[in-house]
Amino acid sequence: MTNRPAYRTIPVLDQRPGALPVPLGAAGSTSGHTRDTLGRPLRDLRISVTDRCNFRCSYCMPKEVFDKDYAYLPHSALLSFEEITLIARQFVAHGVQKIRLTGGEPLLRKNLEVLIAQLASLRTLEGEPLDITLTTNGSLLARKAQALKAAGLQRVTVSLDGLDDAVFKKMNDVDFPVADVLSGIAAAQAAGLGPIKVNMVVKRGTNDHEIVPMARHFQGTGVVLRFIEYMDVGATNGWRMDEVLPSAQVVARLQAEMPLVALEASAPGETAQRWGYANAQGDYDPRLGEVGVISSVTQAFCADCNRARLSTEGQLYLCLFASQGYDLRSLVRTGADTDRVDDTALAQAIGNIWQGRTDRYSLLRAALPPEAQGNGARRVEMSYIGG
Ligand code: SAM
Ligand code: SF4
Ligand code: SF4
Repeated sequence: MTNRPAYRTIPVLDQRPGALPVPLGAAGSTSGHTRDTLGRPLRDLRISVTDRCNFRCSYCMPKEVFDKDYAYLPHSALLSFEEITLIARQFVAHGVQKIRLTGGEPLLRKNLEVLIAQLASLRTLEGEPLDITLTTNGSLLARKAQALKAAGLQRVTVSLDGLDDAVFKKMNDVDFPVADVLSGIAAAQAAGLGPIKVNMVVKRGTNDHEIVPMARHFQGTGVVLRFIEYMDVGATNGWRMDEVLPSAQVVARLQAEMPLVALEASAPGETAQRWGYANAQGDYDPRLGEVGVISSVTQAFCADCNRARLSTEGQLYLCLFASQGYDLRSLVRTGADTDRVDDTALAQAIGNIWQGRTDRYSLLRAALPPEAQGNGARRVEMSYIGG
């Protein structure tokens, strides 16, 4: 008898749907300021560099689903840095000006600085450098901030759902302390990765009592705190409308403690509504800074949505709530060596896909009765396409 190890079958839980066929052919433009069927330009590309994370936020990667048996993508399925840059170059040719690296936790991807340096060499249609930023849970930021800045990263957004350790640990579900995220934010500020944004997902009944303490903590520090409505992304977080605290109520709670004045949007397609802290005269005081609210549930911003998302394995998603993406990896992995990629075919495919885009999930959801909201078709997980 041979001494073979005993294998057991591990049931795998794969939430990833199959890809849509890529529309090839010369119909799509290969460059220029491409617009979709609703006239929306393509400005912002979000790239997920890993589907893994060291946190288990209940609203994103709940422990019960993302456990030791979860089938994460094998390394060979991930886009390499060269493949990402090659694809990003063609998005930039269609008008992209801003790239956000995300995940999963992007700082878990080894040598991420190498990718940042490659992306930093791209130029917009107007010949300008790209705006390159990154969203992180902050756990590894203290260690990496300097190297990220040196590679060409301009800014970071850090997620932090409360200042109270017990509340934050309940949200991240891996016992991660607040102090370590705050050190990461301080290191990013010291490295010049500002203005830093801090994102707080608000779950009614779980961390909404942290709204005012968070605002007080970051007021006057140069950090822009943004409150995000808990969204019905993915299919695993057990979303319920009664756990959403509408942004209007967030603003009302802040107004009761610290006077605010409405500010103009900083850019077209900006998702956050901005509020500035007022001085004793009731005028915006830039030294006190600002907060933002992102009303993804109660106020759809689809009309201006100029964002495309590239998944960890190279699928293009046109909406955060889409259930399928277009397999761009198949176009860049035609041979063992990516130098042989047909750039024109890739550029045309991106043009075809964006020009045919009709997505406006939040607008359509807003028209549904409350009991039907959040009960949509099987949707892709946020950790896979990135937030
Ligand atoms: N791991 C990184 C982080 O947490 O910042 C990057 C990826 S995470 C998916 C990107 C953003 O999505 C985070 O700010 C996170 O809070 C947000 N997010 C995840 N699930 C969400 C949900 N159900 N509703 C609202 N925002 C969510
Ligand atoms: Fe990880 Fe970010 Fe999702 Fe939290 S929100 S589980 S940190 S990917
Ligand atoms: Fe954009 Fe989709 Fe969100 Fe609407 S629902 S703003 S189309 S990502």
